[in-house]
Amino acid sequence: MSIERFRCFFTPICDGCETELPAEESFMDAVEAKRRAGWKTSRDEGGEWVDLCPECAKAESMSK
Ligand SMILES: [Zn+2]
Repeated sequence: MSIERFRCFFTPICDGCETELPAEESFMDAVEAKRRAGWKTSRDEGGEWVDLCPECAKAESMSK
C-alpha cells in the first residue's frame, strides 16, 4: 500500500514515478484524493497494493 503515513498525514505516492499528491488528514481522504486525481490502484502478483498516477497507469496499460 502506497499511502505513506507521515505523522498524522497520509500522502499518496505513485509507485511508478514517486509523484506525490498533497497530504490528507485521513486514509479515506487520501483514497478519495487518488480517485479524484484519476490514479489507479491495483494489486501486483505478490498481493501488494500498487498505486499509479494517470501517467504511469497509461504507460502500464500500453505495455500490456
Ligand atoms: Zn507515476
